[in-house]
Amino acid sequence: MEKFNTDGIVIKTSVTGESDLIVFVLTRSRGMIRAFAKGARGMKNKLHAGSSLFAYCDFTFTEKNDVYHISEASVKEIFFGLRSDIAKLTLAQYFCEVLLKTLPDAETDEEYLLLMLRSLYYLSNGTKHLLQIKAVFELRMAAVSGYAPPVHACDNCGAFQTDTMYFNCITGELLCSRCGRLSDAPEVPFAVIAAMRHIIFSPPDKVFGFRLNEDLLRSLTLLTEKYLQNCFQQPFRLTDMFWASFN
Ligand SMILES: [Zn+2]
Repeated sequence: MEKFNTDGIVIKTSVTGESDLIVFVLTRSRGMIRAFAKGARGMKNKLHAGSSLFAYCDFTFTEKNDVYHISEASVKEIFFGLRSDIAKLTLAQYFCEVLLKTLPDAETDEEYLLLMLRSLYYLSNGTKHLLQIKAVFELRMAAVSGYAPPVHACDNCGAFQTDTMYFNCITGELLCSRCGRLSDAPEVPFAVIAAMRHIIFSPPDKVFGFRLNEDLLRSLTLLTEKYLQNCFQQPFRLTDMFWASFN
């Protein structure tokens, strides 16, 4: 039996047995871990708080024959502010859905955890617009997973910037105002393309560091949402619920 410590965030729980939970934890050093939390449904159980959705904890796991158990969970953050608003809560659950459906078992890049933690932090404390948090999560998630769209220049002529550009959500191809005129791709203001470049090319701790007005954020996240779905070839159920609760 192996015993190890890592921090991580709970992104799904399901009930098993009389009072136990199966907890999906996105960890810093071991990727996604599916673990049993014995007795965690009991209000007085020592694992109760640390096994709840969105709890960010220092965990101690034990592992034997690929079966994991949580033996300790020391809560560092519970993102209480998420519960204040249905749109915030739905967006946070959408991020969980994306991670659960797309993260390969063996993936151990800690940037997934960092992206999720920062996204929930801004959602919870309300200091960034919801549409900005959504767009950053979607596009950075695609980029970290190896699907960064080639938006550094026009795919045809190499132009870096024109007032409007054309972004193809299926191929990720970018065209300038001249080359894109006859394409099917939607026309996008340059400020939105600049934001996409920022999200893709910034260091992890700077990805949220840009400003756009709400209309432009909406254009941005409609593109990033479609692009992410296309990268992973599947719809995410919670996007519709998010838009219904946001609008
Ligand atoms: Zn061009």
